[in-house]
Amino acid sequence: MNLARNVSTADFQRLDAAHHLHPFTDTRQLNAEKSRVMSKAHGVWLWDTDGNRYLDGMAGLWCTQIGHGRREVADAVHAQMMELEYSNTFFKTTHPPAARLSEVVAEVTPDGLNHVFFTNSGSEANDTVFRMVRYYWQLQDKPAKQIIIGRKYGYHGSTVAASALGGMDGMHKQAGMVPGVHHITPPHWFDFGGDMSREDFGVWAAKELERAIDELGEENVAAFIAEPIMGAGGVLIPPDSYWPEISRICSEREILLVVDEVICGFGRTGKWFGSDTYGLKPDLMPIAKGLSSGYLPIGGVMVADRVADVLIDKGGEFYHGYTYSGHPAACAAALENLRIMREERVVEHCAEEAAPYLQEKWRSFADHPLVGEARMVGLFGALELVPAKPGRTERFDPVGAVGTIARDFSFANGLIMRAVRDALVISPPLVITREEIDQLAKLVEKTLDDTLAELRKQGRI
Ligand code: PMP
Repeated sequence: MNLARNVSTADFQRLDAAHHLHPFTDTRQLNAEKSRVMSKAHGVWLWDTDGNRYLDGMAGLWCTQIGHGRREVADAVHAQMMELEYSNTFFKTTHPPAARLSEVVAEVTPDGLNHVFFTNSGSEANDTVFRMVRYYWQLQDKPAKQIIIGRKYGYHGSTVAASALGGMDGMHKQAGMVPGVHHITPPHWFDFGGDMSREDFGVWAAKELERAIDELGEENVAAFIAEPIMGAGGVLIPPDSYWPEISRICSEREILLVVDEVICGFGRTGKWFGSDTYGLKPDLMPIAKGLSSGYLPIGGVMVADRVADVLIDKGGEFYHGYTYSGHPAACAAALENLRIMREERVVEHCAEEAAPYLQEKWRSFADHPLVGEARMVGLFGALELVPAKPGRTERFDPVGAVGTIARDFSFANGLIMRAVRDALVISPPLVITREEIDQLAKLVEKTLDDTLAELRKQGRI
């Protein structure tokens, strides 16, 4: 069924403005500007209903690892729906796709993570984490251990618990905070490093965790949650000194390490998981997005053996679950996505071909007059836009306006990038070719030049 046939872009925009409330959107502003209507995708490309083509520099929303439009995934979902479109996983019941996917995720995730609790999204995975860590400590006869430590600019989802774990002030202000969550400074040297060297700052930022545990009392702290590289916060890549120090603190202190791999997982950083890139040993590991490359919604929490043993041996019934936990069609999509990733060596392509090629071009953008820092790990990067070099002390005022201008130029030029404050963020499908990277880099360059010209015209620079 082609819903776009014989219907104009204006019709969809009218319907959308009349009835559709978009996520993370100022609806009034959107309705004045009108939505872009996407109707088709293939590989790294998207088309809107007016026939404009865009290079998908965000892999959907950090998820389309294998690229768009793979018929094999659609066929696998179709076959599963004809066989068993739905059956629950409550009441002593499983089904082939859920059982098989639980084995495959245990194979591809780091050693020692052999159990999965299925959810529909990353947010639900983090709500599951919230309940699981508190339940774990009750089972360990330490019910006072309730507090979870997260980080400013962290993003763990939009449900009530997940948004509290995240460190986005705007979200907290609109809906209030859940008690029992504490946030520390993120390892983002560019904004928070002051006079310290990058590596000294990495150690300082990690010791923030130790200071927080001391202040709150180890007997009250249940877990620390963090993304290996902070994604929605602006692709904040920690100094190399950060994670070893965090790992030391977590192993010396009695708290669980929750590594949120919703973005970093499934190859984004050039290894299967951010935990592989940084040598982490998660107790719990939320996953989503790249698990199915976004073809259908599915997420989960990987549980380390040492935690699973306690939950299974002592836990009895865990009063938690979703109607669609382990939905057959979503599991079929994930299984086919992971088959493609393994057989076509998508992670190896990212690490050996695509990432080194894009990274070299990316680093050269640091020479552009607007760019204060060009950072990237795997195919996961950002350009920090600044009014003057070197840029760490002087920033645009108000924060975010210039990022939005640049993001709009990027779209107009046919490249989808996201703006986070005044950083332009990129995270293309992992299957991107060298030729497509050449095209991407040209569009980034044009976007930076267009933004610079506009800022000069406005007298902002
Ligand atoms: N964790 C991280 C690290 C994320 O980036 C996101 C989404 N961007 C989530 C959790 C929430 O996932 P979802 O939007 O699927 O609920």
